[in-house]
Amino acid sequence: MSYFVNSSPQHGKGVFASRPIAAGEVILAFSGPLLQRIQISQDDYHLQIGEDLYIGASGAADDYVNHSCDPNAGFNGGLQLVARRAIASGEEITWDYSTAIDEDDFPGFPCSCGTFHCRGMVRSFRHLSAEDQIRLKPWLLPYLVKKYFPESNQIAGSTNARSDT
Ligand SMILES: [Zn+2]
Repeated sequence: MSYFVNSSPQHGKGVFASRPIAAGEVILAFSGPLLQRIQISQDDYHLQIGEDLYIGASGAADDYVNHSCDPNAGFNGGLQLVARRAIASGEEITWDYSTAIDEDDFPGFPCSCGTFHCRGMVRSFRHLSAEDQIRLKPWLLPYLVKKYFPESNQIAGSTNARSDT
């Protein structure tokens, strides 16, 4: 295992590298009960993985990975979080929540990640600028690739990206 859960300076809890992680290495897989939107509350942990499809809390480390607008990890065609670059031991592991969230009425929440690319607010993918959408494209969940970049569906290469055709 390459990570551990601990308190995070900016958030309640976070996930941190317990050893150096190489770029492209799989860090952990997200899991949890499959839920529809009507079954979730904004206060409960959940991750959007489809138009009306979410996974709820797993009770494991994947529930605690925090957001960054310039993260060191991301999803690569599925629900496995992989290192986008080399991650040092002790560094907090983050991913960009806007690569998953795409609700029309998502209120968003302030971001204080402090990175050069910080957008100030975490928003639904549909509410990002075209420039940010293009920048996030390589790390989008499959359902968003299919929705916003259908011409690149083949390249995305994930079998579950095509499951609802
Ligand atoms: Zn930010």
